[in-house]
Amino acid sequence: MFDCIILGSGPAGLTAAIYCGRAKKNTLVLAGASLGGQTGEIAKLENYPGWAGSGMELIMFMKKQASSFGAKFEFASATDIKFNDDGTFTVICDNGKSMDAKTIILATGAMARRLEIDGAREFFGHGVSYCATCDGFFYNGRDVLVIGGGNAALNDALYLADVAKNVTIIYRKSEFFRAEAVLRDRVKERENIKCMFNTELKSISKKPDSERLIATTTNGDEIETDGIFVAIGHEANTDYLSETIKRDDMGRIAPESLPHGMFVAGDVHSNIKMQIATAVGTGCSAAMDAIAYLNSKE
Ligand SMILES: Cc1cc2nc3c(=O)[nH]c(=O)nc-3n(C[C@H](O)[C@H](O)[C@H](O)COP(=O)(O)OP(=O)(O)OC[C@H]3O[C@@H](n4cnc5c(N)ncnc54)[C@H](O)[C@@H]3O)c2cc1C
Repeated sequence: MFDCIILGSGPAGLTAAIYCGRAKKNTLVLAGASLGGQTGEIAKLENYPGWAGSGMELIMFMKKQASSFGAKFEFASATDIKFNDDGTFTVICDNGKSMDAKTIILATGAMARRLEIDGAREFFGHGVSYCATCDGFFYNGRDVLVIGGGNAALNDALYLADVAKNVTIIYRKSEFFRAEAVLRDRVKERENIKCMFNTELKSISKKPDSERLIATTTNGDEIETDGIFVAIGHEANTDYLSETIKRDDMGRIAPESLPHGMFVAGDVHSNIKMQIATAVGTGCSAAMDAIAYLNSKE
């Protein structure tokens, strides 16, 4: 029986592992298929305070720190969690194993919904981005497109308008129906934001002999740009959880609906900004709650 099983080995899960390990709790990190989550994909991380390097280097450092305090690692994914009558939990894994724990920290992250058109995958990280806060800085004084029309897309456009020269929002509907009025007004006020409604992209290609991209719409129009920021929603990794746990429209977990002894951290937590700094903060907080819960039972 583990004191705590932490699901996920991104920054939220690893931070929780450091705290639980240092509190001498018998801790297992169920790391998922690979170490590091989304942070492991970041080539150049510039906005996590105190760090200059790749995301994977940060993750390796955090893992070493967690291991040094006794946290164990298992590379498998949870497929189910059973709530036992005595208040403990059993985690069922995709490698056929099952493990018991007194507390669980859910830190399984989220994934940006991908743009499924030709070129979107090829140019991901080379002009196509799913995170304006992360990559916007690289487009200082340049032209960018934002794909989407919800609050996230409009927030991204406003963020990028402070950095880029021109921002064009491409939205498939005739108005920003789903976005808050205050954001719509702010977008309207910005001289360097243009909106193209009733427009969808069909493909992305590279302009010959240039670093610029060509975004081709379904009408056949070609838009030349330096970067394409996709903001069409996120989906949390929560397939392993029972339907009784309340989730928002992205599948993120509302902490108040969790049973005693179960805690949530990072991108899978509803209502947090999806960044490494917040993942680390909520990982710390979930671990401290789990430790206090365990201590109250001893
Ligand atoms: C390309 C890219 C660039 C980014 N750039 C930045 C940046 O510059 N700055 C910044 O602050 N943020 C950036 N972000 C966002 C940042 O990476 C995330 O906010 C952060 O990684 C969230 O951490 P997390 O631990 O909550 O989740 P994740 O990093 O998503 O980790 C989730 C973990 O859960 C595991 N998992 C999933 N399902 C299961 C399961 N069923 N059982 C067990 N484990 C499971 C996964 O394998 C993974 O280990 C970027 C994201 C991307 C994709």
